[in-house]
Amino acid sequence: MPTPIAKLNFWGVRGSTPTVDPSTWRYGGNTPCLELTAPDGTHLILDCGTGLRMLGNRWDGAAGNRPTQTHILVSHYHWDHIQGIPFFAPLYAENNEFHFYSFRSKFLGSDSLRQVFEAQMATPYFPVDMSVMSAKRRFKEIDGGETFTIGENKITAHWVNHPQGCLGYRIETPAGTVVYATDNEPGDKKLDESLKKLAAGADIFINDAQFTPEQLQSAKKGWGHSSWREGVNTARQCGAKTLVLFHHDPDSSDRKVDAILRHAREEFDSVFAASEGMVVTLGAPGDPVQAHMPGTRTALRREARFRAKVCGVTEGGKPFEEETEVRDLSIQGALILLKHHPRLQSELEVTMKTSGTNGVQAMSLHGYVVRVEGASDKGPSAVGVVFAD
Ligand SMILES: [Zn+2]
Ligand SMILES: [Zn+2]
Repeated sequence: MPTPIAKLNFWGVRGSTPTVDPSTWRYGGNTPCLELTAPDGTHLILDCGTGLRMLGNRWDGAAGNRPTQTHILVSHYHWDHIQGIPFFAPLYAENNEFHFYSFRSKFLGSDSLRQVFEAQMATPYFPVDMSVMSAKRRFKEIDGGETFTIGENKITAHWVNHPQGCLGYRIETPAGTVVYATDNEPGDKKLDESLKKLAAGADIFINDAQFTPEQLQSAKKGWGHSSWREGVNTARQCGAKTLVLFHHDPDSSDRKVDAILRHAREEFDSVFAASEGMVVTLGAPGDPVQAHMPGTRTALRREARFRAKVCGVTEGGKPFEEETEVRDLSIQGALILLKHHPRLQSELEVTMKTSGTNGVQAMSLHGYVVRVEGASDKGPSAVGVVFAD
């Protein structure tokens, strides 16, 4: 029997409001939107932040495999989780069918999510109204504690602690369990338990990591968000295997998210920081989670051959140093052949040497590992790095 595979794409990972600040481009500036394709082909979208627009723009390219039905799980109604809806092109094509799931807000009453749609497109906030959205739309109201199935997949929703309410989702597929717990703050006993129930034994546990532990104790207490430390503690307590730090603060530069990830990795083995364009695949139970980061997006690459010394950290966490050659260089990144297998999302120091008129010159750059290909015991692996400064 073939191994069941589930594929999780991160289209938006930023919390609160989109960012276009150049210091945030590496992790990305779009607000929450994830896409999960289950082994049976069930197509799920988690939240409708601004990342949804990008997903919609890629829709036709994958039309051959695209199922006719998509199920959209919405965590709550804060702007950053619904803002992508009017800009999601597939909603304007009549062949598409969408099933939306969310809770009845006590502030909106019945049909909460349908009302959110209408309000976003009401005059004078948007140029056209709902009547031009020709895709079929069905709305299902769900409650915390509820379990339902879509195809072969079991979905459970649980309340998490967030102003005006928020649902976390647990999706159990034959390839493994993905838990999406955005926007939650620790400190409410009952809801902390609810989060643990949600995350129990998850293969991938995506948790709010907007603030630092220090911010969470002081200025940002009560804002409804969490930290890397809380994610690590919950992952440990409930046996989650891989933790994904999510909902990065709009004021967190890439450097700051790097530091948050570094702290989390000192405390827990398998951690990633959610990054726009990141793809995670889940195989059969027991297989490690595979992650792929987006490479340089726009850079013009040039073939190059520079001698270089590379210092970094291996997958196993050991520091290494290696003499090699840099190939395929751009202003943003490079491809380097290495015998070592550096850890994804770790830092590499690349010192390149060239002989100029004044003798040999060295240039040192800090790169960030976005790809490791051909990582086997035989032969070198091709390591993609993006230069961080
Ligand atoms: Zn949010
Ligand atoms: Zn929120």
